[in-house]
Amino acid sequence: MPNLDSNIEYLKGVGPQRADVLKKELGIFTCRDLLFHFPFRYIDRTKFHRIRDIHTEGEQVQIRGILRRLETLGEGRARRLVGSIRDETGMMELVWFQAVQWLEKSLQVGKEYIVFGRVNEFNGRFNITHPEMEEAVVVVPAENGQGPVLSAQVASRTFDPVYPSTDKLTQKGLDAKGLRKLLRTLLDQLSAAELPETLPDYLLSQYKMIGRWSAISKIHFPENQQELDAATRRLKFEELFFLQLRLLQIRTRRKDTIRGFVYSKIGEYFNRFFQEKLPFELTGAQKRVIKEIRGDLASGKHMNRLVQGDVGSGKTVVALMTMLMAIDNGFQATLMAPTEILAQQHFANITELVGELGVQVGYLSGTVKGKKREAILQQLASGELHIVIGTHALIEDWVQFKNLGISVIDEQHRFGVQQRAKLWAKNPAGPPHVLVMTATPSPRTLAMTLYGDLDVSVIDELPPGRKPITTLHKTEHHRLRVQGFMREEIAKGRQVYVVYPMIEETETMDLQNLMSGFEALSRDFPIPEYQISIVHGKMKAADKDFEMQRFVRGETQIMVATTVIEVGVNVPNASVMVIENAERFGLSQLHQLRGRVGRGAEQSFCLLLTSFKLSSEARERIQTMCQTNDGFIIAETDLRLRGPGNIEGTQQSGMLRFMLADLARDGQILTAAREIATQILEKDPALAIPEHGRLKQHLASEGKDARVWSRIS
Ligand code: ADP
Ligand code: MG
Repeated sequence: MPNLDSNIEYLKGVGPQRADVLKKELGIFTCRDLLFHFPFRYIDRTKFHRIRDIHTEGEQVQIRGILRRLETLGEGRARRLVGSIRDETGMMELVWFQAVQWLEKSLQVGKEYIVFGRVNEFNGRFNITHPEMEEAVVVVPAENGQGPVLSAQVASRTFDPVYPSTDKLTQKGLDAKGLRKLLRTLLDQLSAAELPETLPDYLLSQYKMIGRWSAISKIHFPENQQELDAATRRLKFEELFFLQLRLLQIRTRRKDTIRGFVYSKIGEYFNRFFQEKLPFELTGAQKRVIKEIRGDLASGKHMNRLVQGDVGSGKTVVALMTMLMAIDNGFQATLMAPTEILAQQHFANITELVGELGVQVGYLSGTVKGKKREAILQQLASGELHIVIGTHALIEDWVQFKNLGISVIDEQHRFGVQQRAKLWAKNPAGPPHVLVMTATPSPRTLAMTLYGDLDVSVIDELPPGRKPITTLHKTEHHRLRVQGFMREEIAKGRQVYVVYPMIEETETMDLQNLMSGFEALSRDFPIPEYQISIVHGKMKAADKDFEMQRFVRGETQIMVATTVIEVGVNVPNASVMVIENAERFGLSQLHQLRGRVGRGAEQSFCLLLTSFKLSSEARERIQTMCQTNDGFIIAETDLRLRGPGNIEGTQQSGMLRFMLADLARDGQILTAAREIATQILEKDPALAIPEHGRLKQHLASEGKDARVWSRIS
């Protein structure tokens, strides 16, 4: 008899040929793999459809009714058996092309049957072809002698699991039904002992969860909805809980083993900046986050912190003050941005903020060349430069520091794991602290998973005096009115963005759209009264920069652009954002774009232009934008609409590939799992007490499984 780790080939009903397809098609090598091949849905065989309510072709239905008619029609290949089944609500035609003779003999008109099959539409009428037929009622005299009772067959109907299968598997008889049979065989041969419990008993009883063995047998063959729910809940918890436990362990271990540079004092640069230069009062959230960072930097542990803050929440000054702490303690700092435009803006901004404090700030990117580059590199190596701001060129091997103590990375989701590793190598004395900033708020559930091993700070407050941006949905019909509105705003001295979609797949057409939009605008807003900038990804960096700068300086009133202006760009005087083909943008992208306005004291507007007809999902995106300015709400909606795998920056992350859990829906289970994991590790970081033996063992056994670890590293 096979055990869980035996080759799937030796399970009764498999054999070498089927085993081969199971391996190739589903990656099922062992009995264990098969056991964890969960159904993706169930056919509820406890419920019966009423014939009147059947309207959908392709739907699988189960009907209970009396067979009213049965006759053979046609000749040769058209020969078929046709029957009618009637319930209280109507009549449904049944058709068989095979086994006609046998069926005609075994089915009886007048008897009640349970009919199961897929609905077809033929000549405008519904029928079921090749339904499964089962006699429904066996008349057994009830004990009190009254009326018929249901046969055992009907009483024990359950949920039939449906398994993911493929064409090749179906050819080998392993369709959903064939797989169901294999799982039945496997489960009948296994016992609870082979699938040990992984959770401590106290957790099971405290959170009313069923045992592991029971959950796994029930996820395959539940008797009813309650059993299915209990099994699902338990297994989802297990999945999320162990991931959290691992992530939190990684975090704890990293903190305990990697030493970070200690910034013991708050010095003159920081204090003088705070007292003399800071042009505004920090918001409560900014103060809190700076304190959290300060705590990390003084602790002797290596900082790996993510700051999430909506667009305009004031992350730049947090970055700067963090860098000043490093400089005060004799270290150098970098600030990296994903685009040249943004990096230059940071450079201009920060140079101005620090003014005559004596902080030496440099700029470096791929476009800084020749003597200029050499001078910067030399100053970095000698320690003369305190802060260097730039693009990812900063982590190239040819950039050497004297004593790099911290790297601030703006807009994290464009920097990868390898780049982070490169950064670590920048200082032989130890890894620089890392502060990652992102204006793409992640839904909480996603953050807990993707950044589960980082410390996360949230700037959840905007600087005072900001007027919420008014967002309006407009269609093609309103184009003239939109232009009129742009004119009014420009007359008040404001500036306007007009953004076009640009994606790789449709690049040529998108570029054409952008250019014809630009030409149309140039006609409607003619020089010399109006000046228009244009920026897109196909332009040379120098031209882009030139156009951008004209807009930043207020020399042009309209900026026609693609999403290259999405990240970070700060032009407080711009108060109108017009987004063309807004239905083609994702929610978080729309929100990012909108964040380009509303940065000054003026009332700002975001106009979403779409075609008249919209898909229901696009409509929901547009409506969400019109209803809220809250990035976190928008992120949650985005997650719900698109699913976790499609949220920006997560596509490559195998971390979100769960067997059962769904981050868009299972937030509650995840939150509980993380809390419980945190509590356990606080009390028992090494999982040393006997009660936690199961946890330790399970982590160790999963640790051997490379697939699990590849999700995290
Ligand atoms: P983001 O978080 O999007 O990077 P920025 O750092 O660019 O935001 O800040 C947006 C604007 O808000 C800037 O003009 C900045 O000077 C201003 N700002 C930041 N913090 C405050 C504050 N506490 N009070 C007033 N204005 C602030
Ligand atoms: Mg920013």
